[in-house]
Amino acid sequence: MPGAGHRLYYHATYCWRETFARCKAMAGALERQGIGREDRVAYLGYNTHWGFELFFSVPWLAAIVVPVNFRLSLREMVECIEDSEPKILVVDEHHVEQALAIQRACPGMETLIYAGSGDVPDGMVSYDDLLLQAAVPTATPGGNDDTLILFYTGGTTGRSKGVMLSHINQFANAMGGISLYQLQEGETHLLAGPMFHTAAGSRVYTATLMGIHTVILSRFDVVSVMELVHEYRINTTQIVPTMLQMLLDHPRFPEFDLSSLRLITYGGAPMPVALMERALRVLPGTGFGQSYGMTEASPVVSVLNSDDHSLAPERRARLVSVGRAAPHVNVRVVGPDRRRLGSGEVGEIAVRGANIMKGYWRAPELTRAVLEDGWYYTGDSGFLDDDGYLFLVGRMKDMIVSGGENVYPIEIENILSRHPDVKECAVIGVPHEKWGESVHAVIRVSEDACVSGQDIIDYCRARIAHYKCPTAVTFMEQPLPVSTVNKILKTELKKMIAGEIK
Ligand code: ATP
Ligand code: MG
Repeated sequence: MPGAGHRLYYHATYCWRETFARCKAMAGALERQGIGREDRVAYLGYNTHWGFELFFSVPWLAAIVVPVNFRLSLREMVECIEDSEPKILVVDEHHVEQALAIQRACPGMETLIYAGSGDVPDGMVSYDDLLLQAAVPTATPGGNDDTLILFYTGGTTGRSKGVMLSHINQFANAMGGISLYQLQEGETHLLAGPMFHTAAGSRVYTATLMGIHTVILSRFDVVSVMELVHEYRINTTQIVPTMLQMLLDHPRFPEFDLSSLRLITYGGAPMPVALMERALRVLPGTGFGQSYGMTEASPVVSVLNSDDHSLAPERRARLVSVGRAAPHVNVRVVGPDRRRLGSGEVGEIAVRGANIMKGYWRAPELTRAVLEDGWYYTGDSGFLDDDGYLFLVGRMKDMIVSGGENVYPIEIENILSRHPDVKECAVIGVPHEKWGESVHAVIRVSEDACVSGQDIIDYCRARIAHYKCPTAVTFMEQPLPVSTVNKILKTELKKMIAGEIK
């Protein structure tokens, strides 16, 4: 392997039989600790085999696992624990301080279990000691419609919400993933994204259903990803667009042999089309699959498969689609009255299927607002073409209405991302006296670039209708603000620009 690898990842290797035995013993131990039906057990830590095991041992008791976002501030972690009210918090060695502080703030949380190496901190019970008890669980495991897991949403549009996903929700999602991505038992998958988020977290269930050898990376680090792919001949992995950008931009990218990668799946945020085109050129042997989905859908709604990732001129248009509905999912596009629209018409994307959440945790009103007659109203806008391909045009909240015309930021962002000097971009609407809103581009350019706002506007004007073009450009020196799962926070940008305009 090239270079001296920094190994932040290696812990242990378990076969599925051992994993099963460990999960069973942990379920027995949790039962002795008083965990039963519908109780919550939270996990705060990086990706570890301990976290992975909890995804099975907790539901064994019909209890609910709550993965906590480790990138949150302490205050936000406390909010998450106050919201989900777990009886037990399992913590890894990197979050001991936070766990103790959370316990002080949340007295209802009775027990802290330490899942890590080295000495067990005072006041905590050791995960490994619990396993040694080899207790046999006696409870009836959770069934189809019982809540299996509470994943919290990304918090891109506001406060993050707890999403109740059932056993059948996860099963449906896993079956869809297996067939769409043609996952095979002998393959090796790299779990690179954070398990607290549904994108990577749900892959735990997919991997297990298929018996895929899963390499768990404790937390995303681009060099570790390249090292692991190289060393373990990884076949599949899953990333978000910013991770792909970091990978391709890394100076050590050419040093590693990534040819074992059969499939990279990506999603969660818009993929700049220029970045995808670059990836197809520099990783010619790798297939790409785009998933569109959300926490509420466990998460996959639609998939653009690797056949549709082509640089051939007649097929390039497909690259900006998020693909076709997953096998078990119905997708439709509806108008403001929630009536179905025809193909080509832009409206809100609605989704139905066995993967759709039971509802938001302790928020029946929020649930009622988005779930109706089995359909989940996503808050994303888009359209379907005659072949059933779904095209996403952005979040409903981000749509810009300028002079009575609807402007979809993603269309302009796709143009901007192709500009050779643009490294990052986001398009937002800002209040405008005459037009209602005007189109504003926020961009970060490469260090040696010499480009003006007018150049950027002219670049767009040469390519799309004038009313869609930015009327102002803000240059950022810093990376654009992102959420804890790396999505650009347009709400922050809007506040920032509004402040500048005043
Ligand atoms: P919150 O609901 O708290 O505001 P969030 O919607 O970002 O946060 P997630 O459930 O993690 O939380 O993300 C789902 C959203 O991500 C989708 O509704 C969609 O807007 C966006 N998204 C998902 N996949 C894609 C994709 N392939 N391309 C573009 N956007 C995507
Ligand atoms: Mg959302």
